[in-house]
Amino acid sequence: MDERRSLHETAVEQFQRAAELIGMEDRYRQILSHPKNEVIVNFPVQMDCGEWRMFRGYRIQHNNVLGPFKGGIRFHPDVDLDEVSALAAWMTFKCSLVGLPLGGAKGGVTIDPREHSQAELQRIVRRFTHALGANIGPDHDIPAPDVGTNSQMMDWLMDTFTNLAGPANRHSVKGVVTGKSLATGGSVGREAATGQGVLYVLRHWCGETNQRLDELSIAIQGFGNVGGHFGRLAAESGCTIKAVGDHTGTIIDDDGLDVPALWDWVGAHGGVAGFEAGRPTVRSGSPNDLFAADVDVFVPAALENQVTVERAGLLQARVVIEAANGPTTPEAEEKLVANGIEIIPDILANAGGVIVSYCEWLQNKSAQAWSAEEVDERLRTLLWDASDQVVAAMERFDCTRREAAYVVSLRRLEDVYSKRDIFP
Ligand code: NAD
Repeated sequence: MDERRSLHETAVEQFQRAAELIGMEDRYRQILSHPKNEVIVNFPVQMDCGEWRMFRGYRIQHNNVLGPFKGGIRFHPDVDLDEVSALAAWMTFKCSLVGLPLGGAKGGVTIDPREHSQAELQRIVRRFTHALGANIGPDHDIPAPDVGTNSQMMDWLMDTFTNLAGPANRHSVKGVVTGKSLATGGSVGREAATGQGVLYVLRHWCGETNQRLDELSIAIQGFGNVGGHFGRLAAESGCTIKAVGDHTGTIIDDDGLDVPALWDWVGAHGGVAGFEAGRPTVRSGSPNDLFAADVDVFVPAALENQVTVERAGLLQARVVIEAANGPTTPEAEEKLVANGIEIIPDILANAGGVIVSYCEWLQNKSAQAWSAEEVDERLRTLLWDASDQVVAAMERFDCTRREAAYVVSLRRLEDVYSKRDIFP
């Protein structure tokens, strides 16, 4: 069994291994081991039935030495200080790795969004935004969507913030949040960006290992924003999606699932359970059947700590590409490495979301709307540049891909710290 441990401790251990490799100064390690600011708010919201309920929300600002804090907002029943702190730290390392002038943060509300009407969700988002107040802002801390949140919620957040900012600043603060809908200043490509980015990173791995993308078979855990778009785009590129699992169930088709039909099904039913698409080859299975699927690539795209030691022992895949944040436990990672299964780490694999969020932020700052080609070009270039640097670091330090990703990330952070030095 996996040892139960703090997720934030896992995040710290991950960067400390790379810090050892590059001999990073202890004072920088100490700074990066702690979030800079921890904001916790409790706020009341009236439910549709007339009753009032208190909610707890978090905004953890890990580091802003490279630029304004940046990171998503999660709505999930398991959200707590430890989880949000780990997610905030991973944002710092991710932004640094792909060369963005942004820091790391994360937010969340401990809530099951499926239990609430749209009207209640709107009131919750607006009240949470109000409670965060000046702790967020377009040049200070810029949220985005994550698990359980979407562009509609980002629109409500932006609308609340701009109304609080007053008429003279109404338009200049639009960039307080990314992942908005296109109509309200969102960027073309943001919705699919994380899944598209996972596919670009996988394509890079294919180039390195001399394999054809369209010959790969894939299993995906999670068919939400990230897993759904990744699955759709991978299928369009010729990959065979053999198994998909989510919170409602697991479906398997050794001949390859009809992904466009599955996309429509999940849109209509909220999960993969019950999907057959009229094919006798489609069968349902257990979560462990998903992990044991006979595929080349396993894509965790749901929550953290999903790839456990037990499940790592089931995996047939040659590579795990971490579309989710923190999906692999440290014990499972040891087992995967021992079994010769490669891991493409989260801070590289899912960085596409924050890259296109950065594009949205730049567009808002300059009141422009870029074309899909322009956004896609930046996404691909930044991810492939970062992938090249990670491969070079793997060779130089003879280390895992995760350690190499942290080496690249930490070097940039250390460089900036050493030039600015530590105040006072
Ligand atoms: P989402 O809410 O859109 O989808 C989450 C998916 O996980 C759903 O399909 C849900 O059914 C599934 N799921 C939840 N609990 C599960 C369980 N116990 N077993 C199996 N499946 C389960 O969230 P998302 O935005 O797609 O985020 C997924 C992951 O990607 C998270 O780790 C998130 O932090 C990370 N991520 C998201 C973005 C983004 O732009 N949205 C960017 C970078 C990283």
